Amino acid sequence: MTPLSLDQPWGRGFTVEHTHEFASDDTLPEQSFLPRGLGRSYGDVCVNDGGVLLHNFRRDRLISFDEVNGVLRCEAGASLADIAQVMLPRGWFPSVVPGTRYVTVGGAIANDIHGKNHHLAGTFGKSVLSMKVRRSDLGVQEVDENHVLRSATIAGLGLTGLIDEATFLLNRVPGPGIGQETKLFGGAGDIDDYLALDTASASWTYTVGWIDTLDRGLRGVFFRGEHCEGSDEWLTPQPAKFAMPIDAPRWALGRWSAKAFNELYFRAQSMNTAKRETIPLWQFFFPLDAVTAWNRAYGKRGFVQYQFVVPREASRETVPKILSHLRESNVASYLAVIKSFGDVASPGLMSFPMPGVTVALDVPAPNDRDRRALDRADAMVADVGGRVYPAKDARMSNVMFKRFFPQWEQLEAARDPLISSSFWRRVTAAG
Ligand SMILES: Cc1cc2nc3c(=O)[nH]c(=O)nc-3n(C[C@H](O)[C@H](O)[C@H](O)COP(=O)(O)OP(=O)(O)OC[C@H]3O[C@@H](n4cnc5c(N)ncnc54)[C@H](O)[C@@H]3O)c2cc1C
Repeated sequence: MTPLSLDQPWGRGFTVEHTHEFASDDTLPEQSFLPRGLGRSYGDVCVNDGGVLLHNFRRDRLISFDEVNGVLRCEAGASLADIAQVMLPRGWFPSVVPGTRYVTVGGAIANDIHGKNHHLAGTFGKSVLSMKVRRSDLGVQEVDENHVLRSATIAGLGLTGLIDEATFLLNRVPGPGIGQETKLFGGAGDIDDYLALDTASASWTYTVGWIDTLDRGLRGVFFRGEHCEGSDEWLTPQPAKFAMPIDAPRWALGRWSAKAFNELYFRAQSMNTAKRETIPLWQFFFPLDAVTAWNRAYGKRGFVQYQFVVPREASRETVPKILSHLRESNVASYLAVIKSFGDVASPGLMSFPMPGVTVALDVPAPNDRDRRALDRADAMVADVGGRVYPAKDARMSNVMFKRFFPQWEQLEAARDPLISSSFWRRVTAAG
């Protein structure tokens, strides 16, 4: 065990104290601990202030691969980056990937992550056939499709035990390229244009939009893509071209710089619009991985990523309402992503996705006024039966959490008694 040290999650913004242990093949810590993957969760779901952080990323062996059915068994510390790099030359790719490849299989399961193909594929947990889960009270559990721990462990926020190994399905792909089309949408202050493009693209494997939440017209750029062949050079990702050398200064992070950034991005994308191009899949899925430590771009005070989903029937009215509320409250936001979730049922008790529309936006260095505006947005989400994503959160109140996830007590009942997180203590507190 290493001595106490200071840590920050990916969104930075606050500091916690941990002792660190590395997971081994047999023992677990004997005091409060939390399994940890690559720490790419933005907030306190991956920290355990005052307790042990049990790092699992070194346990990353790929154990077996069934080349006929695409079934991979690996240690849960393996990253999607490594898996993709080893499997792509053989014609396979993870069935669901998030916006960074630097996540472990354990982290992908514990947050039941979603990607740009949610409308057809559902969440990562959908591809999981079985898991080996180690608990301080029950020992090693082989968790197959019928095990009581399955639905609690998928999206279980690391609380039901250390996921040692997982067996899951990969997708067959024709090569390392993505055929991408880009289209502009919006301008009228609603999301009708976006929804129409999304419906027209329902058979495309990957769809996602970028939306300028600071623009009254809610202009945006829609991307759709399909796997395709590509140059052999694309089988491995280019190393990061740039590392964020310093924390951005505070003056660079206000509403005006966000507006300027969004304007530049929109202009750059306007030149690509309606163009079909073939690009390396790494660039399509993981554009931010090209900049090492990009989270420093938001300065020392860090940032909040706010991701909510609202049910489909409420989305047309509620999404513009929440975005104009945030704009009128002067909440600065860069890079907001909009995506429609499909009907594929999520396998986790606490999975975030539901059929509907999700928006994720970065709020740099939020002040008290921004936080009040986000609290009000939470209430608007809850009023229509939506949710806020725990993997990105560091601020929702315990009252709101219990409205978003009324089933939380079932996860509490399945929790390993020695495992806890700062997030869980915060959101399950009485009140
Ligand atoms: C740039 C960027 C883009 C992103 N895009 C998306 C996206 O499109 N969709 C999406 O869903 N998410 C997205 N995320 C969030 C990210 O996918 C999740 O937070 C993911 O869970 C991080 O995995 P990790 O290995 O870093 O886990 P950590 O952040 O270290 O941990 C996450 C949770 O998993 C638990 N955990 C980790 N390993 C284990 C284990 N072996 N056993 C049990 N529990 C474990 C931890 O206790 C914690 O609760 C993005 C994050 C970034 C930084």
